[in-house]
Amino acid sequence: MKSYRKELWFDIPTRRAFLHITPKVEECLRESGIREGLCLVNAMHITASVFINDNESGLHADYERWLEQLAPHEPIRQYRHNDTGEDNGDAHLKRQIMGREVVVAVTEGRLDLGPWERIFYGEFDGRRRKRVLVKIIGE
Ligand code: ZN
Repeated sequence: MKSYRKELWFDIPTRRAFLHITPKVEECLRESGIREGLCLVNAMHITASVFINDNESGLHADYERWLEQLAPHEPIRQYRHNDTGEDNGDAHLKRQIMGREVVVAVTEGRLDLGPWERIFYGEFDGRRRKRVLVKIIGE
């Protein structure tokens, strides 16, 4: 069995953003040389997500509005977590609901995604360098 590991780094200049990362994951898969197996992609930070959905800007605006309704950034003091001096209590909650990781089947050297499935990095507390782990196992 072959095993491949790579960290993808992001430095999002805003607090929140969604980034389409399917091409970067496909690049990792090509690099790995693996034809059949599994590909795990996970955020390595507790205020960021990796998820799969449609690459459609209206949907991403809907996520932004929906997440702000569920866990508004302001007022900062509404979160017990921010008693520690941080201001990212909302970002931890947003990450929880959007998920930590995705696993995609690898078939005949390609990501075996559904027709509209694309992989995204969700940033909820940006403006600093953060990482996503790509781990591919198979043969
Ligand atoms: Zn925090």
